[in-house]
Amino acid sequence: MHHFSYRGGVLHAEDVAVPRIADEIGTPFYCYSTATLTRHYRVFTEALAGLDATVCFAIKANSNLAVIRTLIGLGAGCDVVSGGELQIALKAGAAPAKIVFSGVGKTEAELRLALASDVGQINVESEAELHTLSKIAAVMGKTARIALRVNPDVDAGSLDKISTGRKEDKFGVEWTMAPALYRKARTLPGIDPSGVAVHIGSQITSLAPFEAAFLRVRDLVLMLRADGFDIRHLDLGGGLGVPYDHNSNQTPPSPEEYGAMVKRTVGDIGCAFTFEPGRVIVGNAGIMVSRVISVKEGTSRSFIIVDAGMNDLVRPAMYGARHEIIPVLEAPPSSTTTAMDVVGPVCETTDCFAKGYPLPPLRAGNLVAFLTAGAYGAVMASSYNARALVPEVMVSGDQYAVVRRRPSFEEMVALEQMPPWVE
Ligand SMILES: *Cc1c(COP(=O)(O)O)cnc(C)c1O
Repeated sequence: MHHFSYRGGVLHAEDVAVPRIADEIGTPFYCYSTATLTRHYRVFTEALAGLDATVCFAIKANSNLAVIRTLIGLGAGCDVVSGGELQIALKAGAAPAKIVFSGVGKTEAELRLALASDVGQINVESEAELHTLSKIAAVMGKTARIALRVNPDVDAGSLDKISTGRKEDKFGVEWTMAPALYRKARTLPGIDPSGVAVHIGSQITSLAPFEAAFLRVRDLVLMLRADGFDIRHLDLGGGLGVPYDHNSNQTPPSPEEYGAMVKRTVGDIGCAFTFEPGRVIVGNAGIMVSRVISVKEGTSRSFIIVDAGMNDLVRPAMYGARHEIIPVLEAPPSSTTTAMDVVGPVCETTDCFAKGYPLPPLRAGNLVAFLTAGAYGAVMASSYNARALVPEVMVSGDQYAVVRRRPSFEEMVALEQMPPWVE
């Protein structure tokens, strides 16, 4: 459910006509819907009613300050995976106690920043990190509330490149090794080992892998408690998928079904829960809008060349992800579709959004929208090919605002300077 729909044959974001934004700020751009963000956050939290739950939005999915602040206003905390994201969360106004610091390779500087900021929880991913954190916390006179991120060795059944919970993945501590590490943690200064964390991957479209992981974590919590640990926090990560492709039969479980499964598997364990959803909150709350540059008819394939490239939305090139593509001016019901390759202008063959995609007739100048682009879209954008970083706008009712503007050419090159030996 989202708030991008045709009205009188024109795609609207809530009550704002998409062509109006395109005419005023130029293309390409991302457009987020406040109503959709709000709705997704509410549906997710309501599905967890009855649990002592904190929802920490995974800001790596979308770290726009306006998006994060909107969610914080609804009660969200933040899951961060770098010092930069931690600073963004703080700048957006997140309560430090509601910030979880995850990540497979945190530097000493990042750990120091997390401790100095009094974040609510640090998810430790290795024995080496545990020792480093203890050393730093002791020097700073702080106690780090930690959860060990365990790797439950389950296959999330998602795209290979976004699965994180198998033994061969780099994330977390193998769950069979976790008890020994907790025993070590107990002896270290500056460490309060009171939590367990798990996150098995992203765009997960069935409950089974979550259920398998959560049952393993449940066993681990009970085992640790029998060993005298006071485990009070359970961080169940993110990963719930969203529907990207309406023609596919991969319908992810609803937040209600996910919430019911959480209650069924670990609801009685007497822990405070943290959830780290990213995509499910923001995925459908954003679209990317682009203008057709030209249409090229070939003998075997025909191309629609749009003004957005893989630098603006890299998911298709990076993981073979698919986005639904629709014309901004609704095609009349009588129009036929043709299989088109939708490609960007970047000088890379992988700069292709879709192959053989059925589209109604389009001409140069027409607008198209890539749906479900709110997660892992703008955050992964670059300025490859010296293309200006794609701007972001946010809509609320009949208003819209630019929430990250397009940089000027001078800004794009402002960080560069000539070495003294180059004339
Ligand atoms: C990426 C990530 C998330 C969010 O994943 P989604 O699939 O966007 O819900 C949550 N927790 C951690 C540790 C992550 O790395």
